[in-house]
Amino acid sequence: GARTFHGLVRAAADADPAAPALVQGDRRLTWGELAGQVDRVAAGWAARGLVAGDRVAVQLPNGVDWVLAVLGALRAGLVVVPVNTAYTDPETSYVLTDSGARAHVVARPRADVAGVPAVVGPPTSDDAPPPDPDDPDALALLAYTSGTTGHPRGAMLPHAALLANLGQVRALQPAPVREGDVVLLALPLFHVYGLNGGLGLVAATRSCGVVVESFDPAGTLALMATEGVTAVPAAPPMYQAWLAAADAAGSDTALRRAFAAVHTASSGSAPLAPRVWTAMRERAAVTVWEGYGLTEAAPVLATTLATGRAKPGCIGGPLPGVELVLRDTAGGPEAGPDPGSRVREDVFGDPFGDDPPDSAGEVCVRGPNLFRGYWPDGADGPDAEGWLPTGDIAYRDAEGDLHLVDRRRDLVLVSGFNVYPLEVERVLETHPEVVEAAVVGQPDERTGESVRAVVVRAEGSDLDAEALRAFAARSLARFKVPAGVVFVPQLPHSLTGKVSRARLRELGLDRVA
Ligand code: ATP
Repeated sequence: GARTFHGLVRAAADADPAAPALVQGDRRLTWGELAGQVDRVAAGWAARGLVAGDRVAVQLPNGVDWVLAVLGALRAGLVVVPVNTAYTDPETSYVLTDSGARAHVVARPRADVAGVPAVVGPPTSDDAPPPDPDDPDALALLAYTSGTTGHPRGAMLPHAALLANLGQVRALQPAPVREGDVVLLALPLFHVYGLNGGLGLVAATRSCGVVVESFDPAGTLALMATEGVTAVPAAPPMYQAWLAAADAAGSDTALRRAFAAVHTASSGSAPLAPRVWTAMRERAAVTVWEGYGLTEAAPVLATTLATGRAKPGCIGGPLPGVELVLRDTAGGPEAGPDPGSRVREDVFGDPFGDDPPDSAGEVCVRGPNLFRGYWPDGADGPDAEGWLPTGDIAYRDAEGDLHLVDRRRDLVLVSGFNVYPLEVERVLETHPEVVEAAVVGQPDERTGESVRAVVVRAEGSDLDAEALRAFAARSLARFKVPAGVVFVPQLPHSLTGKVSRARLRELGLDRVA
């Protein structure tokens, strides 16, 4: 079997060189062709003087070129730094400098950023490729977390962690991707979810990936039908966009056709709104299996596929080979006024369903898929026993299935009581004139912190703060009712659809009247 990420491609080529590997528009590659081109790019990197362990930043849109640049670099023993294509120059500059990249792969000619030479597209050479280091313990990726919490940090992921996660996902019964599948690759490949959970699974199963360069919901639905897509790893904004496209078309026909041959559709990386889950089931006749993961875990940790019970708002149970415990935690943000307070068990209202959690705690995980800490010194990696606290808080329902509640650092501590922003947001979002709401803590002289809601109103609505507070007070205990309400035209989202509460704080929306 393969010992490295790029080794998966070689193994697929050796097994069946003529089997289809990737489709991108008119470009179709077999596994044999792909492996041959990867060798040429590895030779191209060597010809440029790069040697094993050097970092290469790849900032290309989804496509065959992205795959070649990345796999060719890995094949040459280089460490890949995937860079978000939406990054501005200062953001890119930070990542290039922090990682010490020796080359920056871009789509079209441009000025060097941070003194790192720009390389247009994957370099190729007719020379023999350099020897394959074939070292599972070597670093494959420095995966910068997208930074909804501040400065991005480079998670050090060895080949072995990537392969371990593929093995864990493939051990699910039934496996979400298997040989003969046609897999939609529309997630951003620069994120570990698209990179390993998409492309990696395709290579490990020798299935065929249909690459979507830039996500256009209606176009992607049509493509899924023509290519006969059978497996869909996706994220919440994609499902939302597909439903919106069907609304705009005034018909669910294209939606149904797109999912007609799909045996497994999954969602991860941000909470999938229960109403989206239900709409996919009713309108597209597809069950969405929700997963939970982190860049630092390469990335999948839990999924409803592991329990076989798909339910809205639920992440199921840990993958085979992942140990997961909920650790009782001194609740609250690190700098909160009462760091000794515990996560309370009685603060959940109806929004969390009929089964109030009997215990909520911080998700702590252990497994061979975990990273080695952050670049360059391995800081904040798993502890001596291999455990990693994720910073996410979850509880188990009556069936033992996990539900994520919030990130620990987003908790609002009101007079020592933990308020879970998501719970308040869900209540506010049931108001017919509220499109979206985000909740953050605001400093409060009396209570340390109080709840502040940043709200997007429906068009034409003149809903005011008092009316919204009164609405919230019908379902929420007094300390959870937003003390402050501010209306904004829109909320900042990360690429995967998460509202960036950190960005709200940066914008001062947790303070300004
Ligand atoms: P950072 O961790 O620095 O804020 P990021 O959001 O880009 O940046 P990722 O590794 O992409 O980091 O995301 C991991 C986080 O995404 C998890 O810790 C969790 O909070 C959230 N997440 C992942 N899957 C789900 C899910 N199914 N439901 C809710 N949240 C999820």
